[in-house]
Amino acid sequence: MILVFLGPPGAGKGTQCKALVDRYHWCHLSSGDILRRERKEGTELGRQAQSYMDSGKLVPDDLIVSMMMKELTKAADKGFILDGFPRTQGQAEELDKALRKQNKGINIVLNLEVDDTRLEQRVTGRRTCPGCGTAYHIIFNPPRQDNVCDKDGQPLVQRPDDTAEVVRNRIQAYHQQTAPLISYYGKQNLVQNIDGNAAIDDVTESMFRILDGFTA
Ligand code: AMP
Repeated sequence: MILVFLGPPGAGKGTQCKALVDRYHWCHLSSGDILRRERKEGTELGRQAQSYMDSGKLVPDDLIVSMMMKELTKAADKGFILDGFPRTQGQAEELDKALRKQNKGINIVLNLEVDDTRLEQRVTGRRTCPGCGTAYHIIFNPPRQDNVCDKDGQPLVQRPDDTAEVVRNRIQAYHQQTAPLISYYGKQNLVQNIDGNAAIDDVTESMFRILDGFTA
């Protein structure tokens, strides 16, 4: 299974990917997570990506494509979910080319749709535990004690690009550069739209209904 997950920042892709991995045991390849890891490790790629990420702009295609091609090689024999990649038509074309070379293709594209008006609040309220990675939202999914992880008691952190100003740039980048991929993949009859405005569990259920049929 090769699944591409599309959706604006704050749509809930990360949360839903966890549910998919638990149920179907596919690899979760998140370009944002990989970039954050590169930054933490202080690699050349992490350094080059830094200013783009901090301002909410997309990292140039050549850097992203070579990074993701390495990840795809590692996941070659497994099913995987691509989360946050591709994000431009150039990236999508490179991905198609690479998969064709391996006689593979994308099986399904899930497009998580969320109204713009909800995105900023969803993103700016997001907090994560730096220890165990558990995600919270200060309004929709708050920890029992303010700003403290329920599981291991560590203080929660906010992603530096989850501020109101940066998130507006990220939403704009989504509309300009990523949303056109819905029709790119639509032409290949791969897209299934999911209403991401619904409650987290309802969104998960609608994805399972589609994917259970697919994997049966
Ligand atoms: P995310 O965690 O998916 O929201 O990504 C965080 C940031 O990483 C984005 O705002 C971009 O700066 C960068 N990024 C992640 N994936 C890509 C991609 N496929 N193409 C370009 N930039 C990306």
